[in-house]
Amino acid sequence: MKIIGLTGGIGSGKSTVLALFEALGTVTYVADIEAKKLMNADDELRHQIIKLFGEKAYDKGELNRTYIAALVFNNEEKLNALNALVHPKVREHFQYFIKKTNADFVIYEAAILFESRSDKLCDYIITVLSSFENKIDRIIKRDGVSEAQILERMKNQSADDFKIKNSDFVIRNNNLEDTKCQVFTIFELLKKLKNK
Ligand code: ADP
Repeated sequence: MKIIGLTGGIGSGKSTVLALFEALGTVTYVADIEAKKLMNADDELRHQIIKLFGEKAYDKGELNRTYIAALVFNNEEKLNALNALVHPKVREHFQYFIKKTNADFVIYEAAILFESRSDKLCDYIITVLSSFENKIDRIIKRDGVSEAQILERMKNQSADDFKIKNSDFVIRNNNLEDTKCQVFTIFELLKKLKNK
């Protein structure tokens, strides 16, 4: 089975592209969603998070995301410490996921694919790109946040140039119809690459 990493900056259109691949029948794994589930369900991880952030990290048994977000916001050391706990667990869970999945290829979506070193898991990497203006407009609409907050979130992500250089495929997601064509072309190529 081939592992295809899918990444891109915030608001570039990763979820949109992933949904287009899913519509073509591709098996997908969203690292961010699985990480959130594991932070609630994995006892060892819960224990480590409480050790790092204190009892308030969980509220009535559920991860207190507002509390944690406030603690890691602008605190690189704490954010790195959290990531160092969560990412190995996600990787371990992903290995388990692919063992019980029967498919020629699986797409692994992660906003911080390179930053979390999960690119090492992948046979091929796709980066989704959008113009800066499109990203800002779409996130303001999607999340109702200010441009300043978006720029803050973008600070923690590596530059597009780096991603492009280290990717096998690039999808330019500006016009949705063009994006669908690019997804279809890559899907067909991936089917052919399965035996290489
Ligand atoms: P990401 O997962 O990279 O953060 P999303 O796929 O959630 O980005 O896209 C951000 C927002 O922009 C969403 O509301 C999505 O519906 C919208 N969007 C994505 N691609 C396009 C496009 N090509 N045309 C119009 N809107 C788009």
